[in-house]
Amino acid sequence: MLTPPEGAGAVEQERGDDVMTTSVGRRRLLVVGAHAADFVWRAGGVIAKHTAAGWEATVVALSYGECGESGELWREEGQTVERVKRIRDAEARAAAEAVGASFVPYDLGDYPLEVPAAVERRLADLMVELAPATVLTHTAVDPFNPDHPVAHRAVARARLLAMGAGGVAAAFSTIRPPALFVFEPHQPEACGFAPDTFVDVTAVWERKQAAMAAMGSQRYLAEHYAERNRQRAVQSRYAGTDPGTR
Ligand SMILES: [Zn+2]
Repeated sequence: MLTPPEGAGAVEQERGDDVMTTSVGRRRLLVVGAHAADFVWRAGGVIAKHTAAGWEATVVALSYGECGESGELWREEGQTVERVKRIRDAEARAAAEAVGASFVPYDLGDYPLEVPAAVERRLADLMVELAPATVLTHTAVDPFNPDHPVAHRAVARARLLAMGAGGVAAAFSTIRPPALFVFEPHQPEACGFAPDTFVDVTAVWERKQAAMAAMGSQRYLAEHYAERNRQRAVQSRYAGTDPGTR
């Protein structure tokens, strides 16, 4: 059992039996991404690990990433935003199914993503409904992406809305605050990401691979994140994981 500080960094590695949990909340994991595929690369293994252990997992995609993160699709002549969104929806649903999660698209648009107060309230209501033990999202800082920090801010604010003023009665339903983790960004050093929690995903690696394969519009990222997983596995051994971790 891990009880991380708020905003703790979380990465995936291979081997081990840990799941990310706390003493509060249900065995539910809520993952919020700015774009439809963000959860796949950065949390696919963590999600599969938890669902394999009997947890429920919900993925919220604030947008489809239709404008900024669907590169392969925009090579096609005559492409349209609506068609890209339909394809991304199908891909993301298949990826979520591969790791045992439900997929909830908010379709707010991307590049730039904007999250109005009403949507923060919607996200808070979802947190109250699910009462997840753990919430996972982007880092607060990402100098190379306009939308990921916006997603982080919305999730952090929704979490505060969901918990209210520390147990004081409010005009809305509240829950005890779920643990908040941030997942591996594309360029960790630039985002100030220092991992302090490693989750072994060896047993579910094929499921993560299946999820990555489902995202045909961003196929170029699959090898990048497979390599990152292998590097974190080596690093995790210094944190005391099984010497055979690969
Ligand atoms: Zn993204």
